[in-house]
Amino acid sequence: MRALESALRTRIAGEVDFGTGARALYATDASNYRQVPVGVVLPRTTEDVLEAVRACREHGVAILPRGAGTSLAGQGCNVALVMDMSRHLRNVLSVDPDRKIARVQPGVVLDDLQRAVKPHGLIYGPDPATHAWCTLGGMIGNNSCGVHSVVAGVTADVVEDLDVLTADGLRLRVGRTAAEDFDTVSREPGRRGDVYRRLRELSDRHADEIRARYPRIPRRVSVTSWMRFSRSTSSTSRARWSDPKARASPCWKRPCG
Ligand SMILES: Cc1cc2nc3c(=O)[nH]c(=O)nc-3n(C[C@H](O)[C@H](O)[C@H](O)COP(=O)(O)OP(=O)(O)OC[C@H]3O[C@@H](n4cnc5c(N)ncnc54)[C@H](O)[C@@H]3O)c2cc1C
Repeated sequence: MRALESALRTRIAGEVDFGTGARALYATDASNYRQVPVGVVLPRTTEDVLEAVRACREHGVAILPRGAGTSLAGQGCNVALVMDMSRHLRNVLSVDPDRKIARVQPGVVLDDLQRAVKPHGLIYGPDPATHAWCTLGGMIGNNSCGVHSVVAGVTADVVEDLDVLTADGLRLRVGRTAAEDFDTVSREPGRRGDVYRRLRELSDRHADEIRARYPRIPRRVSVTSWMRFSRSTSSTSRARWSDPKARASPCWKRPCG
């Protein structure tokens, strides 16, 4: 791991810590699991994230992005390079009150986002009990809920689009996509088309069975999001913010848990 550590130290501006103290600190999340990471990186910039993922790819090391580490099922710890987004990548970049959209870095804490949108009479609907610590990146990873998600929707309902980096280095902007646009991208040559095509194939192969056999619970994470995926590729509905002044808005009537 020394080679990876030294590559990271020369290639990224953020902090790199492969010491036993840091590795012990990041070995647990809010679950019962304990997995000692290979090392810890605190990226300062998006370029740091790109570079750290590239270095891990070159050295055959797994990656684990992390926010506040409040996950309850071990999602926040692994034998991997932990990238803690909460230290430096924690800014609300912009708020557009008319469109009810904010652009944020992945490590922004939910309460900081709430403070930024409150002057506009807005709140971010999903609010886990950990709202003073949890990050938007972690909320998206977990499809977080919280008491107000019952009326405002879960995190997946209120994400407009994402700047995504895959482990193999593909960077792409993703969001709700109309079925015909999804088909167009699926026919593209290259990695992006390949990802879209294989997602659609997986969905076609398994969605009916998931739909038939998975219990009707509104909070879905990971593979059980296929139903949402198959809906989202055929829907142009937009992500919504919950506006406390707009109680007639359909998002307050949505039955979620
Ligand atoms: C006491 C307690 C109460 C809780 N109450 C609730 C609740 O009411 N509702 C609820 O939904 N949850 C709840 N949780 C679970 C958890 O707090 C939330 O899901 C929270 O939103 C997770 O945010 P985090 O920043 O801690 O994420 P983390 O635990 O750091 O990460 C969560 C997942 O997202 C991934 N991830 C993080 N950042 C990124 C990124 N930038 N890019 C890609 N992937 C990323 C991680 O790898 C991990 O898989 C609770 C947990 C505790 C301990």
